[in-house]
Amino acid sequence: MSEKHKVIIIGSGPAGLTAALYTARANLKPLVFEGIQPGGQLTITTDVENFPGFPDGIMGPELMDLIRKQAQRFGAETRFNHIDKVDLSKKPFTVTSGKDEFKTDSIIISTGATAKLLGLESESKLMGYGVSACATCDGFFYKNKNVLVVGGGDSAIEEATFLTKFASSVTILHRRDELRASKIMQDRVFNNPKISVEWNTSVLEMIGEPDSGGLTSVRVENTVTGETREIKCDGIFLGIGHKPNSELFKDVLELDKTGYIITRPDSSKTNIEGVFAAGDIKDSVYRQAITASGSGCMAAIDAEKYLETLE
Ligand code: NAP
Repeated sequence: MSEKHKVIIIGSGPAGLTAALYTARANLKPLVFEGIQPGGQLTITTDVENFPGFPDGIMGPELMDLIRKQAQRFGAETRFNHIDKVDLSKKPFTVTSGKDEFKTDSIIISTGATAKLLGLESESKLMGYGVSACATCDGFFYKNKNVLVVGGGDSAIEEATFLTKFASSVTILHRRDELRASKIMQDRVFNNPKISVEWNTSVLEMIGEPDSGGLTSVRVENTVTGETREIKCDGIFLGIGHKPNSELFKDVLELDKTGYIITRPDSSKTNIEGVFAAGDIKDSVYRQAITASGSGCMAAIDAEKYLETLE
């Protein structure tokens, strides 16, 4: 027999855990499936300096632990399952994790987003052998080494700045001649003597063998002249943005052309009544912990109102 719940929350970043806090305080006893990255993307960052209430900053994993504890204090249950199937065609909805099935009157989807890769064969071959998409996870391994960062947005700058704590030099490879990153982040690049930028540069190939030292260099192309050359390096970090984790919902929910869940204006409602979305899974623009938390709160209130209509 499968369990029956009022609210199931899929995903445990700031959106999911804030939704858990609010639905728990509404006495709805939410069940949160934390998935393969409990705590979400903030658990692979270090200092969070822009979450209100922490004037000295807070470490990402610690912030997520605090929000989780706060939600649990009011009765939210969290489990480490990964959800591999959802059936939204009939009510109550069914959520499946391996052999376990869960029925629920409402669902809050907060599955977040994942770092994008360039899509090169050599990139996947050398992933973990000099190629990384997470400076905060792997930066430590590059003490006194020369590393590259791909991208020109805030993520790339954040990665590059973080890497200067370990690496002796950090070179940003950007495909255009101006950064997309915010002004304050750009200033960090231009004021940091360890960081330099190679403009109009795109990566063609990553060179090296996983079983003999990993990445040794990268073949790049000048996007203006077409000229190609090799840059020696010990590591390369991808900082080119994120893609929404919406695979599970692609044939059932309305998604935009890049895969983000579409919600009704000023709400968390999806095209299926009783199914709500919050955080990076529905937000390609702001993507902040605080906006994700805010939208988790909205989803909780929307779910609560919806559940009242079922009584
Ligand atoms: P983004 O703003 O979309 O920037 C992605 C960067 O990667 C762009 O410079 C883009 O180049 C480049 N790029 C994308 N695909 C590429 C490819 N295939 N090959 C080479 N380069 C590629 O993504 P983001 O930096 O992750 O930021 C997303 C949002 O999160 C933004 O709103 C940002 O402000 C926010 N954010 C904020 C912080 C913070 O405040 N601490 C930190 C991280 C992210 P082009 O410029 O040529 O398109």
